[in-house]
Amino acid sequence: MKRKAKTTSRTSKRRAVARPARAKRAAVKRRPTPAKFVFTFGGGRAEGNAGMKELLGGKGANLHEMAGLGLPVPPGFTISTAVCTHFYANGRRYPSGLRDEVAQHLQRVEQVLGRTFGDPSNPLLVSVRSGARASMPGMMDTVLNLGLNDQTVQGVIALSGNPRFAYDSYRRFVAMYGDVVLDLKPQSKTDIDPFEEILERKKHARGVKLDTELTADDLRELVAEFKAAIRERKGVEFPEDPREQLWGAIGAVFGSWMNDRAIAYRKLNNIPESWGTAVNVQSMVFGNLGDDSGTGVAFTRDPATGENIFYGEFLMNAQGEDVVAGTRTPLPISELEKENAEVYGQLVKIRRTLERHYRDVMDIEFTIEQRRLYMLQCRVGKRTGAAAIRIAVEMVKERLIKPNEALLRVEPDQLNQLLRPTFRPADKEQAVREQRLLARGLNAGPGAAAGKIMFHAEDAEAAAARGEHVILVRIETSPEDIRGMAASEGILTARGGMTSHAALVARQMGKVCVAGCEALTIDYTAGEMRVAGTPAVLKQGDDISIDGTTGEVFLGRMPTEPSEVVRVLIDRSIDPKQAAVYQQYAQLMQWADRTRHLGVRTNADLPDQCANALAFGAEGVGLCRTEHMFFGEEKIGPMREMILAETVDQRRAALAKLLPLQRADFEGIFRVMQGRPVTIRTIDPPLHEFLPHDEAGQQALAQEMGIPAKRVHERVEALHEFNPMLGFRGCRLGIIYPEITEMQARAIFEAAANVIAAGGKAHPEVMIPLVGHVKELQLQADIVRRVAEDVKREKKARLSYAVGTMIEVPRGALTADAIAGVAEFFSFGTNDLTQMTLGVSRDDAGRFLMPYVREFEIYQKDPFESLDQVGVGALIRIAVEKGRAARPKLKVGICGEHGGDPDSVMFCHRTGLDYVSCSPFRVPIARLAAARAVLLGTPSLGTTE
Ligand code: PEP
Ligand code: MG
Repeated sequence: MKRKAKTTSRTSKRRAVARPARAKRAAVKRRPTPAKFVFTFGGGRAEGNAGMKELLGGKGANLHEMAGLGLPVPPGFTISTAVCTHFYANGRRYPSGLRDEVAQHLQRVEQVLGRTFGDPSNPLLVSVRSGARASMPGMMDTVLNLGLNDQTVQGVIALSGNPRFAYDSYRRFVAMYGDVVLDLKPQSKTDIDPFEEILERKKHARGVKLDTELTADDLRELVAEFKAAIRERKGVEFPEDPREQLWGAIGAVFGSWMNDRAIAYRKLNNIPESWGTAVNVQSMVFGNLGDDSGTGVAFTRDPATGENIFYGEFLMNAQGEDVVAGTRTPLPISELEKENAEVYGQLVKIRRTLERHYRDVMDIEFTIEQRRLYMLQCRVGKRTGAAAIRIAVEMVKERLIKPNEALLRVEPDQLNQLLRPTFRPADKEQAVREQRLLARGLNAGPGAAAGKIMFHAEDAEAAAARGEHVILVRIETSPEDIRGMAASEGILTARGGMTSHAALVARQMGKVCVAGCEALTIDYTAGEMRVAGTPAVLKQGDDISIDGTTGEVFLGRMPTEPSEVVRVLIDRSIDPKQAAVYQQYAQLMQWADRTRHLGVRTNADLPDQCANALAFGAEGVGLCRTEHMFFGEEKIGPMREMILAETVDQRRAALAKLLPLQRADFEGIFRVMQGRPVTIRTIDPPLHEFLPHDEAGQQALAQEMGIPAKRVHERVEALHEFNPMLGFRGCRLGIIYPEITEMQARAIFEAAANVIAAGGKAHPEVMIPLVGHVKELQLQADIVRRVAEDVKREKKARLSYAVGTMIEVPRGALTADAIAGVAEFFSFGTNDLTQMTLGVSRDDAGRFLMPYVREFEIYQKDPFESLDQVGVGALIRIAVEKGRAARPKLKVGICGEHGGDPDSVMFCHRTGLDYVSCSPFRVPIARLAAARAVLLGTPSLGTTE
């Protein structure tokens, strides 16, 4: 100890002496390298590359990359995002030395092109554009044709031999500069753009309609008039000095990082303010210099279908904005071969170079200036879901990427586009143009559906039986509507959230659903529906179309396109060998299954739902909601008898009628699932849900049962609860009426024994809902295990089974160690767990949850759709940890709607769950999300905020 202390003090003494000498030497010999803020590209050089997006922004980094590849990029330079950060950290001042650095880089551009900035006979013109790390289309500012003034315009006339072109560029520049840099813009929404106003006056004076009809002289006059407007309205002179113009534009682009639009966009897309934007200063090239010039945009493959073709369009004698404006119709890229075979050949080669280099589909912008091709932009191309899958799979075959990369190239939700029917985009656009977009609700069940409005489940059923396509429109649905829902193409509700009855049943059935469409006022008595903000009054039988992927509701009927994958897997109407899209899907899924650790099960209550889920790759049933079975034709009668029973004997008699019916249901499920685990939950919802609430329904029931209507009415009244979701439901039913659990357990185990006796396999897992206290579970588990042993004995069956619980009450999560002493498995019921943790009713949240998410950003996403990983997630982590500490082999899954949400699946992977369970049509999405969770690893963020 002593020695060590001594050494330390000696060392520090020596250091104290040595320091000044060393510092002196460094000052003499090694000047600190000045920070580099500007990076050159083009003309055979590139100081940056595509990996430098943080510093150069997306646009800049790709320009450097293309220049580095030797592609014809007009030379220029990028002022880095570090300058933006410095600018805002230092009262909008630039770092010292920046002006010199910019001057040096500008000089290089001049040398490469043999032109000089501000030279009246041979001027260099530049564009000044923003470019952040993430694309923020149209949010920030741009100035083109910079460097023009009354002298240099003469140089442009001399060089181009085209005075009209020169003055057209000049007047555009003055207007753009006046707007972006000098802030002469409309002051309110109703104001006309000041430059537009002058232009219109000029056209009127000349008696012409189009800008193109104005002469060079007219345009020259416009330049003067624009400048006068700036002087009058802003009290400043338009700067004639190109260097002043340049710094004005650079300042405006950095300034635009903080404009309202950019701030709003960043918030919406989670782009941090600290990223800042870069500024690209690039020499101008002109596509409007005559018939040998032009401009175009293209994708290296078709972004809609993914087909490996060169896809794009171009316009000769035009600038980029002419292509976008739609005043002239661009030609398909293949036609360019006729215009200029050499340039076309060059572009085809560039297409290949870029794809080989980036190993992805690229979106490019190019300009042809007097027969010479220039590349102005490239970035990874956006694509549809169908295209994403095709491109990913084909690129693996072409050995451009590996299967793991292919998995990361497809967003799980994009699979929806392959699985569900869709509307054709052109039909939707037309509907919007014709003002047939009526309203928007929650996109609760993806896909497209169209049909006649029916306000009642029975009418929907009857119409469907007549062969009509039906959309069931309800204020909200209840279990009573199940058959009508099954008969409909789609379901539209005015109230309810993402886990409302309509939403979750629709998803399980694979139905299209728009829920919580608050703009609708439905009057069942009048048989009509009104839409807020429109004069529309829709009657039963009128046609509507709903898009459950976007939540849109349209007037009229639009045709839908069926999914090829569903036709192969579910309808079995096409041979898989003839189905190219299906094969791509199957290949991607095979890679996903090879990669993922999480199991994927399904939420299904009926054998056909189970069969669908198996076709989609489910490995078991994670939740069978037994109460859904009670709504079958012959079961609701005995069920109601059971509820109306006044004595235990009466109740047992009714339950005895239900037993064979439930047993048959379970046999059906076990047969389909062939020994895969089937998690069956004992009855959960409050009993009043099974009784008719209207007078007529109660009368009919009384008659059917041969009891006075008064008794039915009294029982309904007696079962009324102020808050049924927190009332007499879940395990509380089975604890107060143990004979219900007994009957259900018997139906399950007898069914399993029967299937096994017939040579099949069955593995039931019985799950007790809404457990908050270990004693609740103990009471129910004792019944289930006793019945299982009874059935084993009676049937001499070798049954394997497990008893577990849902964790959906916060107290259950917090006492998971005690509960795991009894439960062999946990399944997180995150619908209820979210409801109870947030104190937000899952059925009534529609009214405020949308603004909570979109406007106030209290939650990033609807917490009933995507798990609140911070709050509800904390409870899940606690429960997993405590549960496994008490029972190391505890199997843990999730069966709330979150089990099919990709971000939530990622969370489940990170938290060490064994499986997720979701509705059948989401099974492929969960499989892909689970694989991506492995590849994306464990992010450190998002868990403790
Ligand atoms: C849950 O609460 O997450 C759950 C799966 O049960 P239910 O939706 O039936 O209440
Ligand atoms: Mg629940």
